[in-house]
Amino acid sequence: MGSFTEKIKEKAYHLGFSACGIAPVGTANTESSFFNRWLSNGFHADMEYMENYKDIRLNPEKLLDGAKSVISVALNYYPKQKRDTGLPYIAYYAYGKDYHKIIKKKLQALWQEIIIIIGEDNHSARYFTDSAPILERYWAWKCGLGWIGKNTNLIIPKKGSFFFLGEIVTTWEADVYDSPQKNRCGICSRCIEACPTKALRSPKCLDARRCISYQTIENRGKIPDEIAKQLGNRLYGCDTCQIVCPWNRFSSGTEEQAFSPTEEFITFGKENINDLSRERYNRIFAHSAVKRVKYEGLLRNIHHLNTKNHEK
Ligand code: SF4
Ligand code: SF4
Repeated sequence: MGSFTEKIKEKAYHLGFSACGIAPVGTANTESSFFNRWLSNGFHADMEYMENYKDIRLNPEKLLDGAKSVISVALNYYPKQKRDTGLPYIAYYAYGKDYHKIIKKKLQALWQEIIIIIGEDNHSARYFTDSAPILERYWAWKCGLGWIGKNTNLIIPKKGSFFFLGEIVTTWEADVYDSPQKNRCGICSRCIEACPTKALRSPKCLDARRCISYQTIENRGKIPDEIAKQLGNRLYGCDTCQIVCPWNRFSSGTEEQAFSPTEEFITFGKENINDLSRERYNRIFAHSAVKRVKYEGLLRNIHHLNTKNHEK
């Protein structure tokens, strides 16, 4: 017959998710002291919101009355077609349409299937993807999807780390729960060595202030000179610590149509982008996560690409 948990996973795969697991809610005890230290070191840069809702962040039980389970899923975004290496670098996750709506829709569809599978419609659920104070990678690990690598990404065995994560927090209690996977980084430290700005301070600890992803996407102000010098040709984000990870040799192109880039996106930068107009920016990045940095932010990044004293 198979457990409800197995049936739910089958449905998740059918909906296009690459991995799915279920864990009981509870306090993320293992993360608590680590998270507090990360905050007190200031490694969250000016993402002050990370300081808020700390107790909710450490226990999603507080996100939904009577919550019993967390269902974690992963959706592949590894692009089938990539931009030429000579072009300004844009992080793979931003190639297609913004993932938030796409994943939420899939999570809603999965929940509808779950109701049918369990044969009960008296349970509540909330869906999240990068949208609530929830430790997504921790829950993905707890739900048995993979382990958190030294590059701080969730690594799925034989699949890699180019995945969006999403969660359903529900009052339903699963018949079978998954177990966390062991860390398989071993003695590898390629990501730590490859990081151009030494942002990976110790295994699983990212100093956002030094991270090019943070600086070119989240930072609304000036990029510190020390980091700006190390941007190389990175225009938006940085995947270096993922690209060098040996587990990503298993990455395969996403089947999610919405994550396919447009031709204009793929070739952006072949022509002169120094005079990028707002209108062109709006057209090319209309539905892309690149919009997160806003027009002015992208112009700032373009300006840094043009600065001659970059250390590659
Ligand atoms: S994204 Fe880039 S800058 Fe940030 S930790 Fe990884 S390699 Fe370093
Ligand atoms: S590069 Fe090596 S150490 Fe870093 S996350 Fe991958 S396996 Fe782990």
